[in-house]
Parts: sequence; structure tokens; C-alpha cells
Amino acid sequence: MNIKKESLEKYYTQQKLSSHSIAQIYQCSSRTILDYLEKFNIPKRTYKDNIMPTPHGSKLSREHRLKISKAMMGERNPMYGKENPRKLGKIVHCIVCNKELYRKKCQFNPNNMYFCCFKCQSLYKKGRKLNEGRFN
Ligand SMILES: [Zn+2]
Repeated sequence: MNIKKESLEKYYTQQKLSSHSIAQIYQCSSRTILDYLEKFNIPKRTYKDNIMPTPHGSKLSREHRLKISKAMMGERNPMYGKENPRKLGKIVHCIVCNKELYRKKCQFNPNNMYFCCFKCQSLYKKGRKLNEGRFN
């Protein structure tokens, strides 16, 4: 086993690899790495300082989740390059205030009247009632 202090410091302190990862580099046990850290007087990190602590049964760290979401960005994301599903619908206008509204294609019916809100809907109903009264 030929572990140099400089290499160990580089891996452990600068690259912030875990003793387990370093053990894989040297093909030895993480216990051996920890012994060497002690021998070389390299200050050991606590568990919380670990950049990717993923112990069994625990939740992923914030950093780990950020790394995963970063990895999922761009073309690796299943939604990448696909049309925004909102664009697949229809733009309709509120019959009362003419505000632009979005309706899903399946909800769109050219014979329907659209209201942006309940207020407009009740205004329309009121107006229709007034008109009906007028014509009766
Ligand atoms: Zn409206």
C-alpha cells in the first residue's frame, strides 16, 4: 500500500471525496483510508460535511437532489423539446369582458360561451334575465 499524504489530502480535502470513494481508488477498505487520515493528521470531516451523504434509509440531501435535477435538465429531460402542453389548447374569449382564456382542446366547443370568472358568468346571466324581462 502506497498512500501519500499529498494524494490523500487532494482526494479528501480538495476533491472532498469520501473515505469510501478513496478506498475504491486505492482498492482498500475505507477503514484503511481513515487510519491513513489519522496517521497524516488530515482533519476528518463529520458526516454532515460529506457532499453526498446517502446512508441507507435516509432521505437524499439537498445537494444530491440538486445534482439529480441538474442532470435531468436539457435534453435528458423527458419533456425537453416538446411543445408546452398548454399550447395544444384553444384560446377563447370571455363573452362578458373579452379576456383571453385558455381551454383544453377536449374542453373546447365552438358553440360554448366562455366566462373568465364566476363574476362574469353571473353578470351575463343577469343581463340575459333583464333582456328576457324586456322582451316578455
Ligand atoms: Zn370576463
